[in-house]
Amino acid sequence: MTLLAIGSVAYDDLETPSGKRENVLGGSVCYFSLSASRFHPVRVVAVTGEDFGAEQRQVFHGRPIDLTGLEQRPGKCFHWKGIYGENLNEAQTLETHLNVFEDFHPDLPEGYRQSPYLFLGNIDPRLQLDVLRQMSERPQWVALDTMNYWIQGASTALTQVLAEVDILLINETEARALSGERNLLKAYRKIRTLGPRILVVKRGEYGAMVLTEEGAIAVPALLLEEVVDPTGAGDTFAGGFLGTLAASGKLDLEAFRRAVITGSVMASLTVQDFGLRGLEVATEQDIKGRTQAFSDMIRTGGL
Ligand code: AMP
Repeated sequence: MTLLAIGSVAYDDLETPSGKRENVLGGSVCYFSLSASRFHPVRVVAVTGEDFGAEQRQVFHGRPIDLTGLEQRPGKCFHWKGIYGENLNEAQTLETHLNVFEDFHPDLPEGYRQSPYLFLGNIDPRLQLDVLRQMSERPQWVALDTMNYWIQGASTALTQVLAEVDILLINETEARALSGERNLLKAYRKIRTLGPRILVVKRGEYGAMVLTEEGAIAVPALLLEEVVDPTGAGDTFAGGFLGTLAASGKLDLEAFRRAVITGSVMASLTVQDFGLRGLEVATEQDIKGRTQAFSDMIRTGGL
C-alpha cells in the first residue's frame, strides 16, 4: 500500500528576510516525500541531472522512500530562484529553468503502476497526465498540487488532468486564479465542476482549509516566532496531509481534521530552516510533541 508521488527535484536559489542561500536541494517531490514518508511508504517519480549524486541520495536513505522511479539524465536539475518579502506567504519567482524536465517523459517502473494512492505534485500538468495514464488501474484517490506558473502556462493540460483528480491542494491565490472567484466557497463550487471533490486551500501563516461536499474544516497554522524560509511549506504540508490520509485509508471529515493538523506540523518544521534541513533533522519525538502541542493549542488556546 504505497503512495506514488511525481514532482520536481530542484536546486533553489533563495532569498528571505532571514538571509540568502544558493543551490539548495529542494523541489516539490523532495519536500513531499521526506514529509509523507513519516506516515506512509512513498514511491518517487522524477528526473534529476548529473548534478544529483550519492550525496543527495543520502538525504532519502533509511526512510521508506523508493527511488526506483528517479531517472538521471544528461544535463542539470530543475532550477528555481525565488525571493520572499515581508509577506512570507508568497514567493516571487525570479527564474525557472526546467533543464532536464524540458524533455522528460516519465516511464513508470512496472511495480509502480498499481499504487493505491497517487500524488501529482507541482510540475508540468502534461507530465502529471502522462503519469496518470500509465497507472494500470485507477488509484483509490488521486491528489494534485499546482501553481500559477502552470495555471497560466499550461491550462489545457491542467483542465484535462483535473477532471480525474479527487483532492486538489493549492494556495489561496491559486484557488482564485483557477476558479476566477474571490470567495473561497464559490471557488470550491467552481473547482468542484472541474473534477476535484475535495479542495485543500493552503493559507500560509493563517493555516489551511479543507472544503468537501460533507462540510468544511479550518485549522490555523502553528504559531512560530521565526520563519526562516517558507520554501517547500506547501509540499511538506501536502506530504503530511496525504501521508496521514493514506495511512488512515479513509476520506472523511475526521480523517481530514487529523491530516490537516499533521500537514501543518510538518510544514512548521520545514520553515524553520533553509531547504530540506528542518525535515531531515526532525525526530519522531519532535513530530509527536508538536502535534500534541498544536492540538492542545487549537482546543484550549495555549501556546
Ligand atoms: P512550495 O514552496 O511548497 O510551493 O514549493 C517550493 C518548491 O517548488 C521549490 O523547491 C521549487 O524548486 C519548486 N518549484 C518552483 N517552481 C516550480 C515549478 N514551476 N514546477 C515545479 N516545481 C517548482
